[in-house]
This record gives sequence, structure tokens and C-alpha cells, in this order.
Amino acid sequence: MTNNYLILVNKTHLCSYNDFKIIKVNSAYNPDAYLEEVTYKAFLKLKDFVKKEGYDIEIESGYRSKELQEKIFNETKEQKGLEHTLKFVAKPGYSEHQTGLSVDFCLKENNKFYVDFEMQEHPVLKLVADNADKFGFIIRYPKGKENITGYGYEPWHLRYVGEVAKIIKEKNITLEEYLEEV
Ligand SMILES: [Zn+2]
Repeated sequence: MTNNYLILVNKTHLCSYNDFKIIKVNSAYNPDAYLEEVTYKAFLKLKDFVKKEGYDIEIESGYRSKELQEKIFNETKEQKGLEHTLKFVAKPGYSEHQTGLSVDFCLKENNKFYVDFEMQEHPVLKLVADNADKFGFIIRYPKGKENITGYGYEPWHLRYVGEVAKIIKEKNITLEEYLEEV
């Protein structure tokens, strides 16, 4: 494996290191957002593309430290229970957000932000899913692949992988399946 943008972090692969350059980013939603540098530049291009189609997306969540992941896990558990939490939130150390290569985007419409499930079936989700690969992103947790990724469908969770995104989309596979093939 030469491209470290293909690093695999999931329920069985711990994010044990992070060599990426993490930078503070602009987000109207989250004033304390960080991302890996190349991922951020790619996201800005995607955001621009989406804007031209008439929608406004922002970074809801980017890089997370192990401590922040722990906080999110515990808060979600308190609010929504353990079963939901295990389906949608990684345990500390096992979150892809710890790489800085993952972006949860949210939608801004009429001066209101719509976060994860609040977007429901909004057309922006399809627009992003159809075009994210052009900017190096994949929908990391697609519908119907829960048994492979270990997570429920999350159309807002993008993962930067670079050029490989086109192959993953075309073959309709997950990052796990792609890495298995190569
Ligand atoms: Zn996420």
C-alpha cells in the first residue's frame, strides 16, 4: 500500500497513529472544525460544486481526537441508548474521524442547519452521492453494506480517498471491499 489516503479504520481496525497534517478549517456550523489539509481542499471544491447546484453544505464534523470521540460516544449513549450508538458512533480509537480524512457535512437552508438524520431524503444527499467521487470522496457507509462497514447508512459521512473514489463508486463497493481486491 503506497497511498496512505487509503488507511482503513473501522470497528476492527484501530486508528493507532495519525501522520496527516491536520488544519483548522472554516465552517459556519462548527467554529472548532479541523481536517486533513488535502481533504479540506477537496471538500471546498465539492462545496463549490454543490453551491452551483443551489445548495449550501457545511462541515458539521471533521477531525476528532480520541477524547472528543469518547465525549460524542457517551453523549449519544445517554440520549439515544447503546444500541443506536453502536450502530452509528464509533468507539474511541476506532473512529475514522480520527484520521482527519472524514467529513460529516450538514445542510444550510433558510438560515437553519440540518444535521445528519434531519436532512431526511433531501435532494442534496443524492447530489453529493452522485458527484463526490469527482472530488476524491466516497460515501463511506452506504445503504445495504452495513454488514461490511459495520455502520448504518450515513449519506453525510464522506471519506477522502483520492482518485480511487471513482473506482469504488463505479463498482458500487466499500473501502473494505476495495482494499480486499488490491
Ligand atoms: Zn462521520
